[in-house]
This record gives sequence, C-alpha cells and structure tokens, in this order.
Amino acid sequence: MFKEILSALSKLLTVSAAISASFALFLDWDISKFFIGMGVATILQLAIKWYIDRVREASITTLAEEMPAPTVKMQIECAFCKSPNVIDYNLTQDEFECENCHNVNSIYGKFFAARKAVPLDAMLTPEVPEVT
Ligand SMILES: [Zn+2]
Repeated sequence: MFKEILSALSKLLTVSAAISASFALFLDWDISKFFIGMGVATILQLAIKWYIDRVREASITTLAEEMPAPTVKMQIECAFCKSPNVIDYNLTQDEFECENCHNVNSIYGKFFAARKAVPLDAMLTPEVPEVT
C-alpha cells in the first residue's frame, strides 16, 4: 500500500516536473517559476484525475440503472383462487396480482440443497487399465 502511494506520487511529480521543465525551456523560466509551474501542473493533474473519476463513476451508475433486471417467465398458482398465472419474474419482485381474481399474492422462494452426484456416464465406462 505504502509502496503504491509512493510510486503514484513519484509518477505525479515526475510528470509535473516534465511539464514545468518544458515550459521553462521554451519560456526562459527561472527556478522559482519552474517550481510554481510544477505545483500548478500537480494541481491540474489531480483535478483532471478527480474529474475523470467522477465521470467514470457517473457513467457506471447510469449503466447499472439503465440495465433491465433479468426476468424469468414462470407459472405460479394464485393463493386465493388457485388459478395458474404466467408472470415475468425478476429477483426484486416479491408480489404479483392474479389475472383471475385480482388479489395481490406474495411470492416466496424455497431453495434446496442436494448432494453432488456422479454422472451416470462416468459410472458406466470403467477405466481400462493399460496393458504393458
Ligand atoms: Zn386468483
């Protein structure tokens, strides 16, 4: 962590020094103007990095909000009238309205655990030992 911070800081200062040095060469700056230019270049780099991070964050948030939740078409029985309803279910949905009696039903899921099984094919083809 400390090594990464030191590495990023040295890169930042190197780029700032290079930018300021190129201005110092072409505009005949003295050493005090060079250090002022280096400070301005450092602040500009940090500001640009902050702005790019905000734009990236905003675009990721927008993408996540625009993406539709994946749905599964499923048939579910109404708890009131027992008639089957076909709904497009997504994982954030916890209720649906019956098409027949118009009552609102809650949706509960049940998960099962099962032992892992060996595929039947693997049991039918025994390993043939090599003949030497
Ligand atoms: Zn119903």
